[in-house]
Amino acid sequence: MKISVVGTGYVGLVAGACLAETGHHVYCIDKDEQKIDLLNHGGIPIYEPGLKEIVEKSVRANRLWFTTDFVKAIQYAQVIFIAVGTPSDEDGSADLQHVLAVAKEIGTHMNEYKVIVDKSTVPVGTADKVRDEIAKYTTIPFDIVSNPEFLKEGAAVDDFLRPDRVVIGADSDQAREIMQDLYAPFVRQGHPVITMDVKSAEITKYAANAFLATKISFINEVANFCEAVGGDITKVRLGIGSDKRIGMAFLYPGVGYGGSCFPKDVKALIKTASDINIPLQVVSSAQKVNYEQRLLFLKKVYSVYGESLQGMQFALWGLSFKPRTDDMREAPALTIMEELVKRGATIHAFDPAAMEEAELRLSQVPWGKQVKLFPEQYDVLTNSDALIIVTEWNDFRDPDFDIIKSQLKQPTTIIDGRNLWDFSKIQKYNIRYISIGRKNLV
Ligand code: NAD
Repeated sequence: MKISVVGTGYVGLVAGACLAETGHHVYCIDKDEQKIDLLNHGGIPIYEPGLKEIVEKSVRANRLWFTTDFVKAIQYAQVIFIAVGTPSDEDGSADLQHVLAVAKEIGTHMNEYKVIVDKSTVPVGTADKVRDEIAKYTTIPFDIVSNPEFLKEGAAVDDFLRPDRVVIGADSDQAREIMQDLYAPFVRQGHPVITMDVKSAEITKYAANAFLATKISFINEVANFCEAVGGDITKVRLGIGSDKRIGMAFLYPGVGYGGSCFPKDVKALIKTASDINIPLQVVSSAQKVNYEQRLLFLKKVYSVYGESLQGMQFALWGLSFKPRTDDMREAPALTIMEELVKRGATIHAFDPAAMEEAELRLSQVPWGKQVKLFPEQYDVLTNSDALIIVTEWNDFRDPDFDIIKSQLKQPTTIIDGRNLWDFSKIQKYNIRYISIGRKNLV
């Protein structure tokens, strides 16, 4: 099938590459000339395991192209995916300006019937807005489909190629059939293409993210309770997660969720519902708990060092919002570093993939000068007062505690926002270890 994907970011590039991988012919379009230029010279603008290999393969096979030329890409395709960003607007709603700008381009350059697919995460009712926008510029018939994306950064290629399910919201038989053909290579037994009306598909994406965010906030709340009454969240987690009805996934206590999706999608869902006077109480509480979780983590630092951190230096491992990605959008590390710096501390930080992204972000904020980035994970330790863990990269799971002990100031202190280690692993080193939902080792 001839396909164009507009927006060559985490979703658009992965979707384009995976669609090409299964034999479709795909144009990836972006308005960012630098990004397209990089892709056309063999570069990959994001860190995503396995992506480079499948991009290179399809480019070599001449079925994946990158362009800024909307006319060419729009006229080429039978199916056009919109995969541009939908960041939070000031009032918490999803900002649709990029989606509608693409709709305008499509309407302006349309030459024959096409299926236009909303892959960006957009509030219920957006398909109608996209349809109206396109129809302002053309009388050629077209259909709008909602096909929300459920991939996870860090495992995006695998998620796209082997999805748990594909959701297709279509109100026309023709469009539904085209989409089913398009996704046929991805269907496996027990992993269906679920078809539904457009609005239900739009809602499905927000409901999924809100549920997962709620699971995280739930376990964080139970962790805080454990801490107060002397329980151990790692045991409780195992105890409840082993129940198939509950499951282990998304039951990790920590510093709260971040990233480019959960915070903004939870916010947008709450806003959409409150606009029509339907308060989403569970989801609103999940959002509040998540915000407070970062503050509670910071309080652990203050509980050791006091409210003023003047002259202190902290080593920090993990800048991306989660492992296996370089994405720092709404990363907990940003809030944590900012608060520590505001209280007078300097930070020495390391991340296995997000160093470039961190350098850029830190250059854009006034407090960024107080954060120094180091290319080696152990180099941040020298003369630091404590090691703070923010992201649970595998690289941090089996460290050399002797080096940690010899480099950090005494008493060796680790404040772990991700419960990376069992007590049995750390106890023999005589380290002060403060984690989430468990007793402190002192
Ligand atoms: P992103 O910021 O990585 O990529 C968006 C791309 O769109 C950028 O390259 C940008 O230059 C381009 N763009 C913006 N306006 C454009 C225009 N008018 N014409 C052409 N290109 C334009 O965003 P992302 O993380 O890929 O997210 C895209 C959408 O997918 C969002 O709605 C997001 O909520 C959703 N989503 C993201 C994930 C994820 O894990 N990142 C998962 C599921 C769904």
